[in-house]
Amino acid sequence: MTKHIFITGGVVSSLGKGITAASIALLLKRRGYRIKIQKLDPYLNVDPGTMSPYQHGEVYVTDDGAETDLDLGHYERFAQLSCSQASNYTTGRIYSSVIQREREGGYLGKTVQVIPHITDEIKAAISTLDDDETDIAITEIGGTAGDIESLPFLEAIRQYRHEIGPENAIFIHLTLIPYIRAAGEMKTKPSQQSVGILRGIGIAPDILVCRSEKPMTEEHFEKLSLFCNVKRELVIEERDVANSIYEVPLELAKQELDRLVLDKLELPVNELKMDDWEKMVATVVNPPKGSVEIAVVGKYISLQDSYKSIYEALAHGGIANGAKVDVRMIEAEDIECDSAETYLTGVTGILVPGGFGDRGIEGKIAAIKYARENDVPFFGICLGMQCAVIEFARDVAGLEDAHSAEFKSDTADPVIDLMEKQKKITNMGGTMRLGAWPCELVETSKSFEAYAERKISERHRHRYEFNSEYLDVLKKAGLSIAGVSPASGLVEIVEIDTHPWFIACQFHPEFKSTPLNAHPLFKGFVAAAMK
Ligand code: GLN
Repeated sequence: MTKHIFITGGVVSSLGKGITAASIALLLKRRGYRIKIQKLDPYLNVDPGTMSPYQHGEVYVTDDGAETDLDLGHYERFAQLSCSQASNYTTGRIYSSVIQREREGGYLGKTVQVIPHITDEIKAAISTLDDDETDIAITEIGGTAGDIESLPFLEAIRQYRHEIGPENAIFIHLTLIPYIRAAGEMKTKPSQQSVGILRGIGIAPDILVCRSEKPMTEEHFEKLSLFCNVKRELVIEERDVANSIYEVPLELAKQELDRLVLDKLELPVNELKMDDWEKMVATVVNPPKGSVEIAVVGKYISLQDSYKSIYEALAHGGIANGAKVDVRMIEAEDIECDSAETYLTGVTGILVPGGFGDRGIEGKIAAIKYARENDVPFFGICLGMQCAVIEFARDVAGLEDAHSAEFKSDTADPVIDLMEKQKKITNMGGTMRLGAWPCELVETSKSFEAYAERKISERHRHRYEFNSEYLDVLKKAGLSIAGVSPASGLVEIVEIDTHPWFIACQFHPEFKSTPLNAHPLFKGFVAAAMK
C-alpha cells in the first residue's frame, strides 16, 4: 500500500515548500523508498502554460508534455523523480473534468457540488500516485492555509487521511517564524494561528517545519510544541541556508526529519547515504576552480523565478567544472537603449533563454551578434536559438529583413515560422510543441562532443520552428546544423564551426539538468566560458 505525505504551507507564500518537499523526497528515496510526488495548485488556470512568468515564474515542462509549476523542477533536480501529467493538478483542471462529466450526464441527475464532487475529483488526482511501484507519495498543496481557494484541497486531504488511516498518511506544515528586527525577537504567534486555521478544518499537523532567518531557541521549540499540539521532537527548524538550496536536504537530515516521517508512517528506517550529495554541496560552497561570469540576456530578468531552471542548470554546469557561475542578469531592452558592449564587456559567456513576445528581441539579437563577433561562448535556448538564426541570417547571410513570423508577420524572410499544423490552432493552452522529442546529432558537431551520443531526447515548448526553406542559404553562409528531429527533419540545433563555442538549440536542455548530473550542454558551455 502507498503511504502519503501531505505538505501544506502557512503564514506567507514563497517559503520554499517545493524545496522542502523535494528535500524530503530525496531523503526518503535515499533511505530506499520508491517515491512519487505531485503538486496541487489552487488557482483557476487549467495549467500555468498560459500565465506570464511575472505571474508565476517559469513554466516547467515534463517529458510527457505537461506545462507545470516550477516546483516540479525541484522535485526532478533534487530527487531525480520523473514527473508527468499526474504531478500537477490545478483547481481549473479539477473543475474542467467535473464540468465535462456533468455535461456528459455522468452525475446521473445529482446536484453537482464542491463537496463531494470537487473533493472526490481531488482525491482521485491524489490516488493517481497509488500503485504497486510507489511506497510513499508526497503531495504538496500550493497556497497558504487560510486562502479561500485552498479549502477544497485541504478538505480532500483531510478525507484522504481519514479513509486510509493515520498510520498511512501524515500532514507536514511548513511555516514561518518571522524575526522582528525592531524588537530583536522571533515570533511564533503567526505559526500558532496558521495551525489553528488548519485545526478548524480538521487537519492537525503531525510535523511542523519552521522556516527562520535566525536560529530558533529551545523556548521557541517548546512554545510551538505546546501551542500547536505537536511533540517537541516533531518541530523542525529549516533555517535560511548560506550558499545553496542544495544544502537544505542535509540540514533537514541532521534533524532526522526523514526518520521522524518514517516512524510516523510506521515504516522501517534504512540507512541514509548522502556522500555524493555532500561532495556536491562541498563543491558549491568551496569551488576549487574559482568563479566564472556568464550573462543571461532576457526579458523577465527582474523576477528570479522566471528563469529558474536556467539558473540552476548554469550552477550545475559550474559544479561539473568545479567552479561557481556568477550570473550577470541583463534586461534585453537595456541593450536596445544602449550598446551590447556596455552590458556585456568582461563576461566570458552569453546565454539567451526562451521567451515569448517581441519586447527586447532586438536587444537579444544584438547580444548574440556581440558573442558571435567577439568569440564569446554563446548558448541559445528556444527563443534564443531563433534569435541566433535571425542574427546569422541578417548579418552573415545578408537577409536584412530576416525575422520570426511571431514578431513580424509580413517579413520578406521568415527564417523562423509557424508549421502548417500550428497555423490552424486557436486555443492557446496546451497546444504548443510540447514534451520530449528525439533528436539526432551530427557526429562532427560540438553538441555531439558534449553529449557523446548520437540519439538524444529533449523537452520542447514552442510554436515556431527553423524554416527549412532557408536551410541551404544559411548553411552556405556558414551555419552548421548539428541536430535534427528524425521524423520531421526539423532543425533542433545550430552551431557556428568557426566560433569557439556557439550552440543554439530549439529545445529546453535546462529542464533535464541536475546538480549530480549536469546537462552536457551546460557543462560544455561553462567549460568553454572558463577557457
Ligand atoms: N516564442 C517562441 C515560440 O513559440 C519561443 C518559445 C520559447 O522560447 N519557449 O516558438
